[in-house]
Amino acid sequence: MNSVSTQVHLRSRPTGWPTERNFSLETVSLQPPRAGEVRVRNEYISVDPYMRGRMNDVKSYIPPFALNEVMTGGAVGRVVESSDDALSPGDAVLHFQGWRDVAQGPAEQFTRLSPESPDIPLSAYLGVLGLTGLTAYVGLLTIAEFTEGDTVFVSGAAGAVGSIVGQIAKIKGAGLVVGSAGSADKVRRLTDSYGFDAGFNYHDGPVRDQLADAAPDGIDVYFDNVGGEHLEAAISRLRDGGRAALCGAISTYNSTERTPGPSNMANLVTRGLMLKGFTVGNYTEHQPEFTREMSGWLAAGRINWDTTVVEGIENAVEAFLGMMHGKNTGKMLVRTGAAD
Ligand code: NDP
Repeated sequence: MNSVSTQVHLRSRPTGWPTERNFSLETVSLQPPRAGEVRVRNEYISVDPYMRGRMNDVKSYIPPFALNEVMTGGAVGRVVESSDDALSPGDAVLHFQGWRDVAQGPAEQFTRLSPESPDIPLSAYLGVLGLTGLTAYVGLLTIAEFTEGDTVFVSGAAGAVGSIVGQIAKIKGAGLVVGSAGSADKVRRLTDSYGFDAGFNYHDGPVRDQLADAAPDGIDVYFDNVGGEHLEAAISRLRDGGRAALCGAISTYNSTERTPGPSNMANLVTRGLMLKGFTVGNYTEHQPEFTREMSGWLAAGRINWDTTVVEGIENAVEAFLGMMHGKNTGKMLVRTGAAD
């Protein structure tokens, strides 16, 4: 039984882009689980854009990571030792003790994934069936108030959230779905695999021009994962009564200075536009409905979802930085593969 945990600690707070030097890999000995505790061997840990904000010493909707301590984040794994009746060795669990290969703590911090389906790998609970999928679902349907027939534009469209947004929009009867992404391969994936009607590479020219070409009659909904130039371009293309769900602004996360907002906010007044931000944690009441619908779509083969997997806890920082640089298609995960 593994009695050590290999973990990624935050050593210093990054300025601008993080580097490997901001982190360290530590091996920590674990005491046997006390009454009410379980030990879990993680199989996958999640690296997510919001974690960049937690590396800063800034109060937000979620506290910053503590210096010289293991970071946290979503993870899935299996119980290997249990001193609690609620969980048994072999149980698959979802929890928040990521950035390590072996997790341990009170059983109530670990949610049993049940029933397990052979068609649904554990990794899905960190992506399409997890908070990523819920973010896409809530952002499109509740925040942006999607209506059948809408023309939808999604940025970060080949990523974890974006790739699901486009597919939900199509399933729910969107008129036209356009996505932007950072490479020709990703743009091909949008139309070949995720059912988008059109896509463009935002490196190929101004977003505003490429969006106008792809959706010449304008858009009704913008799902914003990127902020910056994308948001400004979308505001200029939103039709009267258009709505935007502000999900994230990854183009700004490593900025060292405050980034200016869109210069064309007057359009909100003249066209009656709505821009609404959200964090998925405030919308968990939609979880049951989301799980029911998404499970049905997956069973019917109506949703394609990708993972980009980096092997080994020792490469978790590389995975995180790679995700921030666009090396992922779909959800970026680290397979931790702790040995017994
Ligand atoms: P992704 O899987 O989309 O990975 C991040 C992607 O961002 C990269 O693959 C890269 O793709 C793209 N990117 C990086 N820099 C830029 C840039 N300067 N301009 C445009 N695109 C860029 O991550 P997630 O799906 O997990 O998250 C997507 C967004 O949703 C993030 O902004 C995140 O913070 C937000 N989010 C918000 C939640 C909420 O509750 N509000 C919950 C979950 C996520 P490319 O190659 O295309 O550039």
